[in-house]
Amino acid sequence: MIPAQFDYVRPGSVDEVVAALGERGDDAKVLAGGQSLIPLLRLRLSYPEILVDAAKVPELTGVREDGDHLVIGAMTTHYQVIKDPLIRQHCGLIAQATETVADPAVRHRGTFGGALAHADPASDLPAVALALDAEMVVAGSGGRRTVPASEFFVDYLQTALAADELLVEIRVPKLGDGWGYHYEKFHRVAQSWAIVGVAAVARRSDGTIAEARVALTNMGATPVRASGVEQAVSGAGLDGVAAAAERAAEGTSAPSDLNGKADYREHLARVLTGRALTAAAGG
Ligand SMILES: Cc1cc2nc3c(=O)[nH]c(=O)nc-3n(C[C@H](O)[C@H](O)[C@H](O)COP(=O)(O)OP(=O)(O)OC[C@H]3O[C@@H](n4cnc5c(N)ncnc54)[C@H](O)[C@@H]3O)c2cc1C
Repeated sequence: MIPAQFDYVRPGSVDEVVAALGERGDDAKVLAGGQSLIPLLRLRLSYPEILVDAAKVPELTGVREDGDHLVIGAMTTHYQVIKDPLIRQHCGLIAQATETVADPAVRHRGTFGGALAHADPASDLPAVALALDAEMVVAGSGGRRTVPASEFFVDYLQTALAADELLVEIRVPKLGDGWGYHYEKFHRVAQSWAIVGVAAVARRSDGTIAEARVALTNMGATPVRASGVEQAVSGAGLDGVAAAAERAAEGTSAPSDLNGKADYREHLARVLTGRALTAAAGG
């Protein structure tokens, strides 16, 4: 279908994007890679009066170090994320999960920030941001604020972003020595959305798992931390992973759809968590 008519602007700075959003409020939408927004416009499930294209704002693209954090510009494409040496060195989980997103065409247009701001529960990268304890830097008419990933994903396709706010960059703590990571995704065919996904990071010390963070994709309206698993595996050896993974579905509200019923997803969450944690802990 042809989208409803809209105005289009392409500002050159964060301030100009924020000003454009502020002028039109709920009637404005940021355009990033367009991989989720354009289909919604074409289906007329979304019909903003104006698109504010963020493609020409240099500050929004690229990866840099800031002490013990990496800072990833929101408009950095999936392709750039996968290729970036800093991400591979310090936050390899992001590259590994992004390699499973869609196909090369989508990865060349779609952006890291767009995937987070869109907050699709089946999207791989929100769970990754949650497992890594990432923080979102957001600019609005009142200035900038930082929102932890644990507070950013509010509900189905809803984030803590206000209508006049732009996601500027994502701050990710570097994984230091002793940390391992793994993203385990179950999908029916390659290059498709996750039926369930598991992002795990773990720190090994003296032969045990000293600490772990596990986040689940598509086990509710938002990505969820498997906190029961995290507690159970803390201090355990690799032989304790299977028992801890049994707690993966606790506190989740998995959907039932054509890809699988909720109890099937719960089973997947337990199996995939076992695999992801074992790999993250170096097993
Ligand atoms: C065929 C196909 C398969 C896919 N498969 C997967 C998959 O397997 N896994 C996966 O994780 N994803 C998948 N995706 C989604 C892909 O990752 C998209 O890139 C992503 O969802 C949206 O990113 P975008 O940059 O295209 O954002 P857009 O489509 O431009 O925007 C999406 C939404 O986020 C808002 N937004 C974007 N950027 C910002 C910002 N900086 N600040 C504030 N709001 C913003 C927009 O206003 C819009 O509401 C798939 C997409 C397609 C088309």
